Amino acid sequence: MPKCTLCPRECGADREKERGFCGADNRIRIARAAKHMWEEPVISGKNGSGTIFFSGCSLACEFCQNFVLSHENQGIVITPARFYDIMFELKAQGAVNINLVTADHYIPYIVPVLRHARQDGLGIPVVFNTSSYLKLSALKQLKDAVDIYLADLKFSSPAAAMKYCSAPDYPQVARAAIEQMVKKVGRPVIRGGIMQKGVIVRVLVMPGNLIDAKASIKYLYDTYGDDIYISVMGQYVPMPHVTHRELKSALSPSAYRSVVRYAQSLGITNGFVQGSGADDKIYIPEFNCEGV
Ligand code: SF4
Repeated sequence: MPKCTLCPRECGADREKERGFCGADNRIRIARAAKHMWEEPVISGKNGSGTIFFSGCSLACEFCQNFVLSHENQGIVITPARFYDIMFELKAQGAVNINLVTADHYIPYIVPVLRHARQDGLGIPVVFNTSSYLKLSALKQLKDAVDIYLADLKFSSPAAAMKYCSAPDYPQVARAAIEQMVKKVGRPVIRGGIMQKGVIVRVLVMPGNLIDAKASIKYLYDTYGDDIYISVMGQYVPMPHVTHRELKSALSPSAYRSVVRYAQSLGITNGFVQGSGADDKIYIPEFNCEGV
């Protein structure tokens, strides 16, 4: 892909010869393919979500919990044929879906494989787990390849998005992307406790950013009501590399509870909250190339 403009960074890298801002070239690179039990209950179910963690990231937030992937590009290159096989291996292990974690910058490389796998009877939902820093033209490419969007709305404030991700356009881009996701897959469908299609938007509550989290939650509920699920997350873990002072502390339980109470006061019923202990590091998977 010469002069890549796939994501809003539009860094122009010639991915046949070099890596872009996102850390990716023209090969699929992943760091883990295994069942994961700790997503929202309708995504993990009892058997686990078939998560495939991709290396690199076009947003690259300072506080990223998967820093070794998003900033250090840990992982190994796989062929499209191996990607296809991995999806069927996860299905054979009982995974209730295929969950593509931060695959935004690989869309043109993975979509033909996804379509092929679905035609060949993959038969479980495909989840696109994304930062939502996506251009509409990239989202368009996912037509008929994805059933569920598990999307972040990280910030509503351009200043916060600039401060932590050098992406002041994030709120505008992410809101437009989420609107498109909802148009594409429609209202949630859940069968046997497992989501078959729909959109879940995650709002991670971060220390020092409670007002912004509340603004995101209000925007989502005012705009979409029960047409989406809103997942209020309290699993923030301060990582060693963060530079901003407020990010160096854990999120206090009372701060998280205040945001949850706010969400409840709006009348949200299609929602998820996390129990105490969700910020334990044991929930961050090891990126040891298991299943790759
Ligand atoms: S997807 Fe990667 S290479 Fe392409 S424009 Fe974005 S950052 Fe650059």
